Amino acid sequence: MTLIDGNAIAQEVLAEVKQRAAALAAGTGAGDGDAAGVVPHAVFVRVGDDPASVSYVAKKQRVAAECGMRSTLVLFPENVSRDELLARLDALNADPAVHGILVQAPLPRHLDETEVFNRISPAKDVDGFTSLNVGRLVQEQPGAFAPCTPAGIVELLRRSGVVTAGKRVVVVGRSLIVGKPAALLLLARGADATVTVCHSRTADLGAVTREADILVAAIGKPRLITADMVKEGAVVIDVGINRVPDPSRKSGHRLVGDVDFDAVAPKCSFITPVPGGVGPMTVAMLMRNTVAAAERAVGVFGA
Ligand code: NAD
Repeated sequence: MTLIDGNAIAQEVLAEVKQRAAALAAGTGAGDGDAAGVVPHAVFVRVGDDPASVSYVAKKQRVAAECGMRSTLVLFPENVSRDELLARLDALNADPAVHGILVQAPLPRHLDETEVFNRISPAKDVDGFTSLNVGRLVQEQPGAFAPCTPAGIVELLRRSGVVTAGKRVVVVGRSLIVGKPAALLLLARGADATVTVCHSRTADLGAVTREADILVAAIGKPRLITADMVKEGAVVIDVGINRVPDPSRKSGHRLVGDVDFDAVAPKCSFITPVPGGVGPMTVAMLMRNTVAAAERAVGVFGA
């Protein structure tokens, strides 16, 4: 069994991002060289003080700084009006000094997440949630910003030397953020997997997951995937981040994935841990999308 080290692979991706950001700042970005002095700039929009959102956005800002990129936090109170939020997004869309815009989910209930995401200019949509970028993903158009978590999964597999072509992939979860785009990316030409998507209404989940050469768990239920649901030699990617009580920790809790790691790992050829698997890749891919957005804004066509 090989443990896929998401932290190490994320560092590889971030080192590449840092180089690209430095090239842009120096005006030597891989293209035609007229891009002098552009520092990639991401704006993170947070509504309210949800503790997980606070820590995710802080982490993204820290990593952006480590990559030599600029970031700005735009903070709204929990009760911000739809009109005020959308007006700010319009202003950020129009600002040429802003290359990437991310609205941290979840939003309070009075706001329509789809409407808010769709207000972001597709060229600055580094989370890849706008209808246009999702459509481009379906059409396999080059240059679409793929959502960061599924893009991170594909990158983890690729850099671990896991071949996806012709393999049976089972994705458990059909969210817009993870399950659905993960299925699309793995189905696309180049990845060439045969993909099955399961969800909360799937009958006999174990019978389907046992068929998987590569199993992606994006459910949000602690240790739902047990050893009997996994084929011997499978590759298992655990996207879940679940907080469970743990009195032995000072915090009183710890994070576990959607996979019963201790029981499943011995059966796997490759498996990701939680934490330290998919999580760091999500942030790394966000940085990669941001540097790509900045490159495109100044006419450098990179990866
Ligand atoms: P979600 O709640 O939007 O979607 C969960 C999906 O799981 C749904 O499609 C649902 O149909 C399916 N599901 C629920 N119960 C099921 C069951 N019993 N059997 C089969 N399918 C079932 O969640 P999400 O946003 O896709 O996130 C999933 C998990 O991944 C969460 O734990 C979340 O915290 C985590 N996550 C991690 C990262 C990361 O960077 N590692 C990023 C995003 C989400």
